[in-house]
Parts: sequence; structure tokens; C-alpha cells
Amino acid sequence: MEYIIKPKKVRVKDVYDVAVIGGGPAGIGAAIASARKGAKTVLIEKRGFLGGNITACYVETCNHFLHRANFDVGGIYAEIEDKYRQKFGNSDDIRPNSPHRFSSEYLKIFLDAFMRNEGIALKLHSFVNDIIMEDDIIQCVIIQSKKGPVAIKAAQFVDATGDGDVAYSAKVPFAQGRDRDGRCQPGTLNFRITGADSKLLSEGHDHLAEIIKKFREDYRAGKTGLRCHRQDIPFGRLTPAGQISYVNYPCAYGIDPTDIDDLTRGEIECREYILEMYHYMKNNFEGMENIELASIAPEIGFRDSRRIKGEYVLTEEDIETSKQFDDAILEYPRFYDMLTPDEKLLTHGDGSWEGRGYEGHIYVPVEEGRTYSIPYRCLIPIGVKNLLVSGRCISANHVAESSVRAISACMLTGQVAGTAAAMCSKENLMPRDIDIRKLQKTLKQDKVRLPKYLKV
Ligand SMILES: Cc1cc2nc3c(=O)[nH]c(=O)nc-3n(C[C@H](O)[C@H](O)[C@H](O)COP(=O)(O)OP(=O)(O)OC[C@H]3O[C@@H](n4cnc5c(N)ncnc54)[C@H](O)[C@@H]3O)c2cc1C
Repeated sequence: MEYIIKPKKVRVKDVYDVAVIGGGPAGIGAAIASARKGAKTVLIEKRGFLGGNITACYVETCNHFLHRANFDVGGIYAEIEDKYRQKFGNSDDIRPNSPHRFSSEYLKIFLDAFMRNEGIALKLHSFVNDIIMEDDIIQCVIIQSKKGPVAIKAAQFVDATGDGDVAYSAKVPFAQGRDRDGRCQPGTLNFRITGADSKLLSEGHDHLAEIIKKFREDYRAGKTGLRCHRQDIPFGRLTPAGQISYVNYPCAYGIDPTDIDDLTRGEIECREYILEMYHYMKNNFEGMENIELASIAPEIGFRDSRRIKGEYVLTEEDIETSKQFDDAILEYPRFYDMLTPDEKLLTHGDGSWEGRGYEGHIYVPVEEGRTYSIPYRCLIPIGVKNLLVSGRCISANHVAESSVRAISACMLTGQVAGTAAAMCSKENLMPRDIDIRKLQKTLKQDKVRLPKYLKV
């Protein structure tokens, strides 16, 4: 059965130079960059707070893979990490030798003030799922509010929704998941516990790392009896109050992150796994006998979903060969982290890239001196003139996405998109007509790492 939704008149509420949709890492980078270039900028976010997966899914360890590497990601990401540290230090984290982690709660508060000081107009509780397009130019995005639809008009738009919702509304082609069956990496619903014993850190030792190792061995030996297919159990911050700020564990497989029935199944399935794991931790992990389940992240989180088709599709071969692009806008360390889309293959694979993530989890750590470039064309969706994409939904194939999805990389592609959008609104240009050298020079001045072969 099908019905036609009747056309509705919608009043334009506000007009901006640049509208950024999605307030996660990519949207934060985009909005700050755009506002700093003098564009009247609005940031539109469906939740009641900013931070995307970091705050909504407790993904607090944004750069853990760079912990022991000598690589400064630069740009707005490095600035935010620095300023956050000045204000909140290590967020009560007392684990020795651990990488920097944000507290997702402090980060929400930090971002409120940071964005306000940048002069960015903010609209929270604003879910965008439609656009008004004339020819191939987006006129407005439509927010679904409790009072009905609200139109926001802008000269340029940046899609930072993680799922490419704006590009999807504009009918830009996309790919999703693995080529052969569209399967994405599993969705994960992180949770938080309190009541962990301080002896987990006895003699300056981090026993959490030992628990992680032992759990993997037991899982692979089929000893845990847990239903969730996951051999890893990464832990977040440990605080003096006995809080473990996240347990990155429950995984739901075969979920389409844009399908409401799948999402419903994923949330409920993961909550069951959380309860099982909570009891398992209490009964099996030394120092966790008195834990309580403190909270479950607001939403199940996804590492990948739609990948919007752009003028160039980045591949893992480009990453492996450090392919040079004349329109490179970012240099990033080579790294992949892909949880296999097949739950049954979870104990397979040696973490290496060769299996492409389809014969087991690939986790390729950063190696000194191995970097790759992302070309500007990956941010330019085909068929729409005044839209740029940023973050985990940029134009890349499935395996390459498992690298560009890193939070700092997402914030940086956001910074590039915001800078380009502001330049376009000022100079009355469209993103694909921009002077690429000028953009690269501007990014360099703003501390974005560009490959040396560019000579800008
Ligand atoms: C469990 C888990 C663990 C991970 N671990 C790590 C890790 O250790 N390190 C790392 O670097 N990365 C990690 N990642 C990946 C990382 O979190 C994401 O790739 C990254 O957050 C993507 O940033 P983004 O801004 O593109 O999208 P998101 O973080 O998804 O942000 C998108 C934002 O847009 C908003 N939004 C979405 N749709 C709309 C709409 N239609 N209208 C308005 N607003 C909208 C969302 O509410 C959200 O705030 C992990 C991911 C998961 C799920």
C-alpha cells in the first residue's frame, strides 16, 4: 500500500551563508572552520548535545591508535584536544600509560561554550530529513520539529550527519557496507559501570589490560558462554570513584544503520548483551565484584553506514601505495580498524589488512612514516552543486572507510569542508570550482597537515 504525502507550505526560518548538518566530530570541525572564515554559520544537530559518537556512544578514546606514534594530527582536532586538556585535564582518568580520553560528559559542556565563543548559531533537537532543491542547487534543509517542518536556507551546505542524510535527500548515489551484500560493521551500544575496585591499579599496574587479554583468550577458547559475538572488551577511563567510563562490548550484526526496524532490534539485542556481560564481569573479573551498571549510552553507535559517491572514491590501494593527489587536502597516518561484518568469523584473521576485514577483524596500527592523502574530490558529491560531505560518510570504499572513520580524521575532513564552504559563499563559487591551491594554502595556515609532495 502507498500514500502520497500532501505538499506543505514551509516558512524559511533563518538564512545563513553556510549550514552544517550534524554536530559530531565532522560537523564541529566544519562549523568552526566556516565561522572562522567569516561565514554566517549554523550547526544543526538532531540530539540535545554535540559530539556525535564521542558523547552519544561514549567513544571517548578518539586517537588511541596514535598513542605511541609520533604523529600530530594538527588542525582543529589538535586544538580542541589541547584546550579541553587545559580545562579538564585527564578527565579523572587514573589508568597509567593510557592514551588521552575525553570524558563525554565534560566534553558536552566544553563544546557548548567553545562553539558559542566561535559565534556559531546552534540548533539542537533538529532532525533534518528533507531538502528543497531547485535544479542541482539545495535551497533549504528541512528540520522536522515538534511544531512541524522548519526550513533553513543557506548558500552552501555541509553534510556531517555520519549517514549522509542530506546527500541522500538530494538523491546522490551511495554505497553501504560490504560490496557483496551491503553488510556494515556491527553496531555497538557502549555502557558504563561504577564500583570497580582500586586494586585494579595496584603498584601502578593496569590490570584492566590483563582482563582484556584474558577475556579474548577465553572467548576464543569458547569458554565464556556469552551470546554476543565479540572477542574484545575495550575499557575506557578508570576514575578514583571506581567508574569505568565505557565498556565497548555489545555488538549487533547485520544492522542497516538507516533502517528503523534494524535499529530497534540492535538496541534491544545490545541491552540484553549488556546485562549478560555485567553479570559476567561481576562473577569473573577480579576487582569488579561490587560493580553496578551506571548507564547505557544514549544510542547504539555505528562505525560505517552510507558512503556518499563523490567525484573520487578513495580505496585501500590508494592508502597502501600512498597515492599522490594534486587536490590532496589532508595527510593522515595509515591505519585500519574494521570489525568483521560476519559474527561467525570473529575469532578468525590475524588483524592484518590482507583479509580486507572480511576474514576477521582487521586492525592495522600506525607505523612511523606511513601516511596517505585524501583528495578534495572525496568531499564533493556527484550531482549537487552546493553540498560538501565530511566525516565517515565521505566518498571511500568499505575498507578505506575503516581508516577515514577515525574521529580526528573526521574532524579534519569537516574542517576542510567548512573552510571550502565559507570560501565559496564569500566568493560566490561552487565547491567544485574552487581554487584548490588557495584552499590548500588556507588549510596549511590553519595547521591542517598536508602531504609534502604538494609544495604549498
Ligand atoms: C563503538 C564505536 C567505537 C569506536 N571507536 C573509535 C575509536 O576508538 N577511535 C576513533 O577514532 N573512532 C572510533 N569510532 C568511529 C567514530 O566514532 C566515527 O567514525 C566518528 O564519530 C564519525 O564522525 P562523524 O562526525 O562523521 O559522525 P558521527 O560521530 O556519527 O556524528 C554525526 C552527528 O550528526 C547527527 N545527525 C545524524 N543525522 C542527522 C540528521 N539527519 N539531522 C541532524 N543531525 C543528524 C548525529 O546526532 C551526530 O551528532 C567508533 C565508533 C563506534 C560506534
